[in-house]
Amino acid sequence: MTTPSPAPFDARFATHEVTNQPPPLAPYDAYAGDVPLQQALQREGAGWSAQAVAEYGAITGREAMELGFAANENRPRFKPVDRFGNRIDEVEFHPAYHRLMQLGIAHGVTGFAWRHERTAGAHVARAALMYLHCQADQGTCCPMTMTYASVPVFRHAPALAGEWLPRIISSEYDSRSLPAWKKSGNTIGMGMTEKQGGSDVRSNTTRAWPLDATGTLYELVGHKWFFSAPMCDAFLVLAQAEKGISCFLLPRFLPDTATGARNAIRIQRLKDKLGDWSNASSEVEFHGAVAWLVGEEGRGIATILEMVALTRQDCMIGSSALMRQALVQAVHHTRHRKAFGKYLNEQPLMQNVLADLALDSEAAMALTMRVARAVDASQRDAGEAAFARIATAIGKYAICKRCPPFVNEAQECLGGAGYVEESILPRLYRQAPLNSIWEGSGNIQCLDVLRALKREPETRDALFAEFAMVKGANRRLDAHVARLVHELDDTGNIEQRSRTLVDMMATGLQAVQLLRTHDTLAGDNFCAARLGETLSRNYGTLPASVPFAALIERAFQG
Ligand SMILES: Cc1cc2nc3c(=O)[nH]c(=O)nc-3n(C[C@H](O)[C@H](O)[C@H](O)COP(=O)(O)OP(=O)(O)OC[C@H]3O[C@@H](n4cnc5c(N)ncnc54)[C@H](O)[C@@H]3O)c2cc1C
Repeated sequence: MTTPSPAPFDARFATHEVTNQPPPLAPYDAYAGDVPLQQALQREGAGWSAQAVAEYGAITGREAMELGFAANENRPRFKPVDRFGNRIDEVEFHPAYHRLMQLGIAHGVTGFAWRHERTAGAHVARAALMYLHCQADQGTCCPMTMTYASVPVFRHAPALAGEWLPRIISSEYDSRSLPAWKKSGNTIGMGMTEKQGGSDVRSNTTRAWPLDATGTLYELVGHKWFFSAPMCDAFLVLAQAEKGISCFLLPRFLPDTATGARNAIRIQRLKDKLGDWSNASSEVEFHGAVAWLVGEEGRGIATILEMVALTRQDCMIGSSALMRQALVQAVHHTRHRKAFGKYLNEQPLMQNVLADLALDSEAAMALTMRVARAVDASQRDAGEAAFARIATAIGKYAICKRCPPFVNEAQECLGGAGYVEESILPRLYRQAPLNSIWEGSGNIQCLDVLRALKREPETRDALFAEFAMVKGANRRLDAHVARLVHELDDTGNIEQRSRTLVDMMATGLQAVQLLRTHDTLAGDNFCAARLGETLSRNYGTLPASVPFAALIERAFQG
């Protein structure tokens, strides 16, 4: 049989030339074009890490961007049994997922802050690394966040810490299904949410029974309704012991066998999720799984609290990163696309939209980096610890909430191209709501702010000390803070009003950070646009006096 040869090109059928289509953004340098990030790194005391962060920015805008597409197009697959029918409870990932994990861990997304713990600013540097990684792929950020955030929990179990922490903070990633102790690097997941309650973890029904007289080894029977990254080497989980909710370290392989038999963690299925496709989130049952007690029996929530605080910080980083990536795509596209004879970024109304997005993006990142500095200084400075306590809840609420409409607006800047899967925008859009739901949804954050103000008065002092830092720098901010004081002093119906209050706190804190840039472009324009009574909720509504082009240029030099 002969193969038909292709028809010769016939000029009569040349329908059109492709014109007016922007070049792809990637490969690009995600750090070099990000002046606001570079300034924040300096401002929050991590200028010493600029080279390490810059190196990773070059990778995240190039190799990691490509890997992000592959890891999300080829979703993880659940393998309950092997080909002989033996139960294995494995999840198979595309090689791009493993390479992303390897890159992130090697460059410090999990361990940098802990390996440099004695140097002030280490958590700020690590926040910048995470911010860059998250722009290329969000799914791998989930296990990396949990691994990073697990470290303080081990302080409650010195014997476990001695064995596990060197592997958890290492720069090695080992994707093999092997017992943790046979690998040089480990990842950690967390299991709190059950079917009957996620916000209210006190309703956990998973039971824990001691296995021996030492009081350290337990057997777990129960389930978890959301259990992300089930291929982690171990998990910090909550379960009911005799004295109440307790925290346990649950390894994927049994601790007391040389060969490493699988622990009795049965994966029921993987969640079919709106987004977050490169990451596997599962439902699991524990059929007598063996785990170590961490901290005191009955003090599980207090024990895992620091992990929760750090994962909430990472929700802020993740949402800021999504906003940044969406902004960068929008600015790039509008620089290259023309309509009605002019580039889109020269059209006055488009300039207003882009500048408005640029302000929100920088404000989100700047507050996030400020919180990272407070986390960093918490061990040394009680005021910073109090600020981290309250600003994490405020920022988690406000920034994660802002993310979905932000990404949608950026999508619109690309027109139809922004709705098409080949651009990154649909992926960013699907991912955008996750951080506001995960790890304490919006209402839970607002109630947490109220709880902090009531039970830990030092958090209110820390909040207002932050405003006092720039007192007199902007009259709108001064008036905003005065209004906030007035609103807080009125304790009537405070729970119903708490979203409004937390929004006010967040906007005020973001204004402080932008004023601290000493760049009037960002600070004064943010105050003019965000602090007032009759402001529109839509983007593209900045006052006409704003220097739009300069704000857009500041946002992304690419
Ligand atoms: C992709 C994904 C991955 C996840 N991975 C994990 C994981 O690895 N480990 C894990 O433990 N969990 C995980 N979760 C679960 C997540 O943390 C929970 O879904 C979340 O904490 C909310 O719990 P819930 O779903 O039970 O909702 P509910 O607790 O039922 O809350 C529903 C709504 O009610 C609101 N609400 C609750 N109480 C109050 C109140 N007193 N006043 C006003 N409003 C209230 C909440 O804010 C929320 O909006 C994951 C979730 C997702 C989507």
